[in-house]
Amino acid sequence: MKTVIGNWKMNLGIRESVALAHGVLQSLKGKELTPDVVICPPFTVLSEVQKAVSKSKLALGAQNCGPDRAGAFTGEISVPMLKDVGCSFVIIGHSERRNYMQEDGVLLHKKFRLALEEKITPVLCVGESKIEREAGQAITFVKNQLKEIFENQTIPKTSRLMVAYEPIWAIGTGAPASVADIVEMHQIIRAEVAKYTGAEPERVEVLYGGSVTSENAYGYLRESEIDGLLIGGASLKLNQFTEIINLASDILNAQI
Ligand code: PEP
Repeated sequence: MKTVIGNWKMNLGIRESVALAHGVLQSLKGKELTPDVVICPPFTVLSEVQKAVSKSKLALGAQNCGPDRAGAFTGEISVPMLKDVGCSFVIIGHSERRNYMQEDGVLLHKKFRLALEEKITPVLCVGESKIEREAGQAITFVKNQLKEIFENQTIPKTSRLMVAYEPIWAIGTGAPASVADIVEMHQIIRAEVAKYTGAEPERVEVLYGGSVTSENAYGYLRESEIDGLLIGGASLKLNQFTEIINLASDILNAQI
């Protein structure tokens, strides 16, 4: 299976969001096999987008969640609230939150655990900066990020184990990582998550994110080590995003 996730970040109001969701829905119609497609709009439009995608196979995700279930946490949005509005996925530890909002491993461990407990699939983002890559520290850095989350974490047997490898230097820069670098890191991520969780390595889904476009997506999707894509900028452009979904569908249908 392949999974294609669109991270809309802090973009779009209600009208544009609903229109974009309708457009994505169209691209899933009439095909035998399609990838799992998840859109992650801003919190403020989740409710309206949910109405547009309900009863379809297009899934809804959130870009972040609070680390607590409920209570006096002004401004936070909890995992139960996300479930209530129809989310089945939540992105955890995106580098923009790690870097701009100082989210650390301790906080992200809590968020990840809460998502699992509430049966929402957490999409854990990991990835090194340019400094770590150039210093030959990328693998050590990513392994440590995984340790912070998966060590001492109880994983329910039915949970999806999803990690997005997003090297920071590739996000929004137009300079995506090479297939060789991605495959190397995905193998390591899969093995590390399997080691911590005791899960079969095939159960671990590893996505790539960083300057994916409709032009370069095929080269990633055709790799068996790459279980899908997490897409920022190109997910806001209907023609780009639907083209990527179509490419993933073609690959899946060719494998039947
Ligand atoms: C992202 O923000 O997760 C991302 C991958 O962005 P972009 O596709 O724009 O590089």
